[in-house]
Amino acid sequence: MRIFDPHIHMTSRTTNDYEAMYAAGVRAVVEPSFWLGQPRTSPESFYDYFDALLGWEPFRAAQYGVAHHCTLALNPKEANDPRCAPVLDELPRYLVKDSVVAVGEIGYDSMTPAEDHALAAQLQLAADHELPALVHTPHRDKAAGLRRTIDVVRESHLAPELVLLDHLNETTVAEARDSGCWLGFSIYPDTKMDPDRMVRILREHGTERMLVNSAADWGRSDPLKTRHVGDAMLAAGFSEDEVDQVLWRNPVAFYGQSDRLDLDVPAPGGAPATHEGNSILRGGE
Ligand SMILES: [Zn+2]
Repeated sequence: MRIFDPHIHMTSRTTNDYEAMYAAGVRAVVEPSFWLGQPRTSPESFYDYFDALLGWEPFRAAQYGVAHHCTLALNPKEANDPRCAPVLDELPRYLVKDSVVAVGEIGYDSMTPAEDHALAAQLQLAADHELPALVHTPHRDKAAGLRRTIDVVRESHLAPELVLLDHLNETTVAEARDSGCWLGFSIYPDTKMDPDRMVRILREHGTERMLVNSAADWGRSDPLKTRHVGDAMLAAGFSEDEVDQVLWRNPVAFYGQSDRLDLDVPAPGGAPATHEGNSILRGGE
């Protein structure tokens, strides 16, 4: 089973995770820029983070045979802090980089006027750079949040086929599907979506434009949830081809619209062992 996790925050994960992901079939990931838990106090700390997503993290992933791309943006939560607003003006110089395959994650957290502005401005940036957009839908007040998100997407210059609406569930899938956007589902331990619920959604709504991710980060999460969905699909009678469509071909088709996907990564141990003079070993071992 080949797996592309279209939304995972590897910066927060360990090398053990990379090893386990490779063993489970994960060969490619997209890492959206997001909130780190600790609020940032200046735009500069975003730029160091963006540089890490463009440099160190793809290097680290390649050590384990995983192709790494990223999406960059001012995240919805920190869009509310005026100290972080200058990030919107600096994004254009990052969006031209080779391994940036979308603008994201953008969207609503608390649906404030500042979030309205950041979402509309970043959908425009995506349109200007001919990039897709990864749009996070709120974890609270999901139905209203989705409706407002779809309205803003419709008013933007970005075509729906360039938009991935993420963190969907049973209550939002039908409306999201009618919008013409791609549909993302984050599979978490205990809460929100789990593999069996995902299988039921796939049975009801089909496998077209459907993406499944682990959204694993620093919170309670599991980077192998994509694999668990693949196993649950097979157990429920889906074919290997349908699993491949959801876990590989759909994310390739969505992010491939950037024309920047490079999925050619050597097997573990085959990539150059240093990045700007540093390795994943310490102390010159
Ligand atoms: Zn995320």
